[in-house]
Amino acid sequence: MGRVYNFSAGPAVLPVEVLQEAADEMLDYRGCGMSVMEMSHRSAMFQNIIDEAEADLRNLMNIPDNYKVLFLQGGAHQQFAAVPLNLMKNGVGDYIVTGVWAKKAWKEAQKFGKANKIASSEDKTFSYIPDCSDLPISEDADYVYVCYNNTIYGTKFPEVPNTKGKVLVADMSSCILSEPVNVEDFGVIYFGVQKNVGPAGVVVAIIREDLIRDDLPESVPTMLQWKTQADAGSMYNTPPCYTIYICGKVFKWLKKMGGLDTMKEINEKKAKILYDFLDNSTLFKGTVEPASRSLMNVPFVTGDKDLDTKFVKEATEAGFLNLKGHRSVGGMRASIYNAMPIEGVEKLVEFMTEFEKANA
Ligand SMILES: *Cc1c(COP(=O)(O)O)cnc(C)c1O
Repeated sequence: MGRVYNFSAGPAVLPVEVLQEAADEMLDYRGCGMSVMEMSHRSAMFQNIIDEAEADLRNLMNIPDNYKVLFLQGGAHQQFAAVPLNLMKNGVGDYIVTGVWAKKAWKEAQKFGKANKIASSEDKTFSYIPDCSDLPISEDADYVYVCYNNTIYGTKFPEVPNTKGKVLVADMSSCILSEPVNVEDFGVIYFGVQKNVGPAGVVVAIIREDLIRDDLPESVPTMLQWKTQADAGSMYNTPPCYTIYICGKVFKWLKKMGGLDTMKEINEKKAKILYDFLDNSTLFKGTVEPASRSLMNVPFVTGDKDLDTKFVKEATEAGFLNLKGHRSVGGMRASIYNAMPIEGVEKLVEFMTEFEKANA
């Protein structure tokens, strides 16, 4: 079997060029006689890999000098705890709850202080992003928290919420590097890399320097203090070296593709093919309010559970994999991250057209 079209939400499709390059370097990385998996994280060779990865990410996202870039472990879930532990001075965080991940972050923050739910879209199964132009931001909030792209529901913030001057923290796991963002609008951006960047094992945190505190309570675990890893160049302990290496290759691939302006154009074109089809289909329909649609995750249904199951089965047989929706919502979901080629979406739409005819 050759390569399939992989619509997985994460871990997800990676660029073939990157995988090929990693394969070529597997046994002997650039003449050093060993694989990147086998080398010391304290070697000059690896230092060069992590430095280049950081420099390329800074270049791609135009990250200002007063932001640190940390390569951490524990996934996005660990940042659900790290955010309140590092940012709560007054003990207050305001949360915009737009899906499962935002809700989990909000719940986790309740362990450490007062976590206010200041907006939610749960009333309509998280199928839209609430109006965030004039929210009841708490006077004493240490930060406002959002999940920028809701992987499970397929929604994305159409614009940066108005936090009335409070620090904005964003989980961008599933939309990072899909289009440009103005980093300065955020105090903290973090993303698990396994959606749109690399293999699982790294969460990258981009943190404004003044938010990296050295006056945290003693009780905050060493590994959860951002300062620990900021001071140690992400190498307080052994980092996930191989994942960082692959992420670095993806950053270079994105630069070669033309950077984030180009990726935005490609991603808009790709998503439009699918959304246009869904808007005109007599069988399938998208589940998200058009103004809140994600460019990366596209959920859809037929309205008939058995037909959904049949579709997923036949799609799998035809080489379109991982189209089953998240267990919490059902239906289907096509994740069309950066590495999904445009013909993957074109072919999927052809297949859906045929399925529609056969099952009308
Ligand atoms: C997948 C995902 C998570 C969970 O990531 P882990 O790395 O498994 O902790 C959190 N937030 C978003 C937006 C996600 O897509």
